[in-house]
Amino acid sequence: MKYIDDFRDPATAKALVARIRRDAGDAPVRLMEVCGTHTVAIARCGIRPLLSGVVTMLSGPGCPVCVTPDGYIDAAIALGRKRGALLASFGDMLRVPGKTSSLEKEKGAGLEVRVVYSPLDAVTLAAAMPDREVVFLGVGFETTAPAIGGAIRTAAERGLKNFSVLASVRTIPEAMGVLAADPEVRIEGFLCPAHVSVVIGTDAYLPVARRYGIPCVVAGFEPLDILMGISMLLRQKKEGIARVENEYSRVATSTGNRKAQDLIRDVFVPCDTGWRGIGVIPGSGLRIADRYASFDAERKFDAPVVFAPEGSACRCGDVLKGKILPVDCPLFGKACVPEEPYGPCMVSSEGSCAAYYKYGAQ
Ligand code: SF4
Ligand code: SF4
Repeated sequence: MKYIDDFRDPATAKALVARIRRDAGDAPVRLMEVCGTHTVAIARCGIRPLLSGVVTMLSGPGCPVCVTPDGYIDAAIALGRKRGALLASFGDMLRVPGKTSSLEKEKGAGLEVRVVYSPLDAVTLAAAMPDREVVFLGVGFETTAPAIGGAIRTAAERGLKNFSVLASVRTIPEAMGVLAADPEVRIEGFLCPAHVSVVIGTDAYLPVARRYGIPCVVAGFEPLDILMGISMLLRQKKEGIARVENEYSRVATSTGNRKAQDLIRDVFVPCDTGWRGIGVIPGSGLRIADRYASFDAERKFDAPVVFAPEGSACRCGDVLKGKILPVDCPLFGKACVPEEPYGPCMVSSEGSCAAYYKYGAQ
């Protein structure tokens, strides 16, 4: 297949759906799509109803915006308010609720928040404003980590003293391990993220497949990628095996992008970190390494991000763990809508609740 249309061919999709239905057992198989872009693609392409009765697709914690804890937003706001820092952020973070406010509300009240399109833009900003402290809000998974690390290295090379990063960088396989071990979620197969896998390599999921006996398939984002990935998962289940397979071999390899991995290893070290709605997952975070400590906003300003469980009304945690569907949250579409989000899953364009709201519960 060469062109995008080839990945959307209705006849092939029909054949794949028929194969999935043939391979499925009596009870619906519980599969989790880990990544937010898969969630949106599944909703947009109407894949869920095609598989009703045979496959239940659970949405996972694969949107960095959704899993960033409110303590992080509070810490960012405090850096702006109390330390006078100019906050540089990706746009999708602005409406994420903290405990009492959001960056968007604070911006409206005068806090200086600039939307940037890459971490390097924040470095450029700092270089152009030597008398201002610029703090980049570095939120992301393994896909964004190399760009954040690259910005820190560039700032170091340029000798910038007024640039730092409030890092909130997470790693996906560790979160999958926690969900795999949760008897309440009962995942029978993981549709693994595409972009993350390009960086870390598909072998990164071997521990999940081996330790928990759960099939893993890395799949692309087009409808046929997703249907093929689901079909491969069902085949493994039918054959009683659990291994890592790669449907996205046109881009992802077993070992990933070594250059990006080296960059991550240079700038970050693994740490325990809190995920919104899930809790602290050992070894699932990347903090800035000591050699770059002067670029770590938490250390530079002695302002650690404090993780605390969220308020009870928000069911984002259960959505992110695949325990409930967005429509099962009592606030869905009522107190929580995209224009006025109560929880982060309704904010991000890759959030499960936003996808269900936009494309319908089916
Ligand atoms: S960065 Fe890529 S892999 Fe990660 S959640 Fe977003 S789309 Fe999925
Ligand atoms: S509907 Fe809103 S409050 Fe409920 S889980 Fe989704 S984002 Fe959270």
